[in-house]
Amino acid sequence: MPAEVAEAARAARSAFAERFGRPPQGLWAAPARVNLIGEHTDYNDGFVLPFAIGRHVTVAAARRGDDLLRLVSLQKGTATLRLGDLAGARPGTVDGWAAYAAGPLWLLARDGVQVGGLDLLLTSDVPVGSGLSSSAAVECATLLAARDLYGGPDEPARLARLAQRAENEVVGVPSGIMDQMASMACRAGHALLLDCRSLASDQVPLALDDAGLVLLVVDTRVSHALADGAYAERRRTCEQAAGILGMAALRDATEADLDAARDRLGELRYRRARHVVRENARVHAVVDLLRRGRPDLIGDRLTASHASLRDDYQVSAAELDTAVEAALAAGALGARMTGAGFGGCALALAPAAAATAITDAVAAAFADHGLRPPEVFATRPTDGARRLA
Ligand code: ADP
Ligand code: MG
Repeated sequence: MPAEVAEAARAARSAFAERFGRPPQGLWAAPARVNLIGEHTDYNDGFVLPFAIGRHVTVAAARRGDDLLRLVSLQKGTATLRLGDLAGARPGTVDGWAAYAAGPLWLLARDGVQVGGLDLLLTSDVPVGSGLSSSAAVECATLLAARDLYGGPDEPARLARLAQRAENEVVGVPSGIMDQMASMACRAGHALLLDCRSLASDQVPLALDDAGLVLLVVDTRVSHALADGAYAERRRTCEQAAGILGMAALRDATEADLDAARDRLGELRYRRARHVVRENARVHAVVDLLRRGRPDLIGDRLTASHASLRDDYQVSAAELDTAVEAALAAGALGARMTGAGFGGCALALAPAAAATAITDAVAAAFADHGLRPPEVFATRPTDGARRLA
């Protein structure tokens, strides 16, 4: 077990004992994720390639004899509810963060599991709202705890679907399946190729250490107000483009299809669709290189993804462009915004020896542009959700 996971597990165990006056029956952890490539492809039935990072939500939990859910987040406070409160749960039934922790229980119950009450404490080192998917990490960690204590499915894909439905139906966020699949199913040293149409997934080796490479995450710690509206608008535009092409989704289109229909699509829809088509192709190109053991060669695809998101899809932001440009200038092999855009995180692939110079260069570039200092950290692909003890 990595040292930081062991440390979080110890902290969760002792905080649980202190709050609830008894030891937990188990400890679980679920990771956050970064998408290596495949951005804004998920809702176009396309391909994504996330990996789990070494930041986790850690849960300590124990069954109760009644139907009470006593929830403690060391970051967000406490909440107490009854399982009965979740009956017929809809968005808004449970307020705030407790919906992320309690929602998965309700989905388990609806799946036919006889769930009872729980004392549950969680702690997390995942930045909230940075696009690293702290939400899926909360859902997956609590779902795994409830599943082990009360029963339920074994397959990661089924668990991911339950966690996603908790976010859709109890929290009320219409997110896709990527975050929960990544948190549940990723493996150390691998990225997870996910076909968002069939939901088929495949482990792809991402052997960075052997190649002397590191992945750096730049958390810009900003989230621009346009994000929600722009996201909905991009989705609509893609649906329209697919409709004009007579296709179920842009996943089915080629660049030749787009060129042949350029006038009918109009320039804006053409460029949005071109991003999606090229991004899917880049995912496959990166997967091919990784399968050939050449992570050192994927950098250009990452950087091309960023340019496409900035210029064709237009979801970047000054902070993300600054991070990418500074990282590349300081020796990164490739860099891109990751996540939906308008803030959140950027990702840079770099020789391990350049990590410090890149971190310093990014910090200096933010200062030069009068931007709030970002948080930069190195990460490597880790295991998905698991029981620790
Ligand atoms: P992201 O998933 O990108 O981090 P979201 O807005 O999807 O951002 O999810 C963030 C929400 O997840 C928080 O507002 C909170 O409700 C819940 N959450 C995340 N981390 C914790 C935590 N440590 N304790 C309790 N709730 C958390
Ligand atoms: Mg989220």
